[in-house]
Amino acid sequence: MSLKRSVAWILKVRKELLKRFNKKKQDDRVTLVKESGSKDCNRLSLQDLKDAEHSILVFVQRHEFTDEISTLSTNQTVKATSNIRKLDPVLDGDLLRVGGRLIESKMPENCKHPIILPKGHHVSKLILRQIHIDLQHSGRNHLLARIRENYWLINVPSAVRKLISKCVVCRRLSAPVGEQKMAHLPPDRITPDKPPFSRVGVDYFGPFEVKQRRCRTKRYGVIFTCLSNRAIHLEVAVSLDTSSYINVLRRFIARRGQVEKIRPDNGPNFIGAKCELKSALSEWNLNQIENAMLQKKIDWQFNLWRVRISEVYGRG
Ligand SMILES: [Zn+2]
Repeated sequence: MSLKRSVAWILKVRKELLKRFNKKKQDDRVTLVKESGSKDCNRLSLQDLKDAEHSILVFVQRHEFTDEISTLSTNQTVKATSNIRKLDPVLDGDLLRVGGRLIESKMPENCKHPIILPKGHHVSKLILRQIHIDLQHSGRNHLLARIRENYWLINVPSAVRKLISKCVVCRRLSAPVGEQKMAHLPPDRITPDKPPFSRVGVDYFGPFEVKQRRCRTKRYGVIFTCLSNRAIHLEVAVSLDTSSYINVLRRFIARRGQVEKIRPDNGPNFIGAKCELKSALSEWNLNQIENAMLQKKIDWQFNLWRVRISEVYGRG
């Protein structure tokens, strides 16, 4: 944009000087003094910027496609060695545009015959960067679609990829987020030489509605997770009361063998659970459960306030 404005000012000054020169020739000094003080000299109009852009593009094309323009201006076809021969280039005034077979199309003229821009030229990079900024650093395909509405930049996918990879804003936005280092694994998960389900975590899930004779009733799932090898065992609890839980544990031990340590969930992960589950938990007789566990030589560790559940179960 700054290049366009600079060129626009240069063109405007040149135009003004030419006008003064012609006036001087006519020896009309009075008119000259009046016009030099007009407000139009102090600011750029939209037309000035368009003229500047046109002049820049003409300069770039004349510099990069000299042979092609001279050939086309004599109504000859472009040489076979030219790298834009496949584009079927045509001269539209001073500008070199893509030819093609879309003349009868209802598309906008710039879209049908985009302006050809050279590969790796500084002006091509400036145009690409300006469109990228105007699009608020959007993705690669969006940028490609927008640039092809007006320009045909040779080898544009590579140029776009290079631009985005060097753009500071895009790199900052696509940078990987920081990750927190996980805590050490608890001893229960890394103690070897123990049979499966020697140390387990246990949790409730549900309820599920089941059909019992002619009525519907609720049942709860109980999941036991082996802390060392991650195997699971599922049981069904009739209700959420203490005796039901002890029955579930008895069935589990009868099926999987003696358990050394059980780490049940202690409520914080039930915060989002249903009110029914929470109220039922408060009715548990913890002492009764603990006594039942001690009779079976099981270490019942209920207080896990400071141990994250993800550490115990390996989730998250
Ligand atoms: Zn960017």
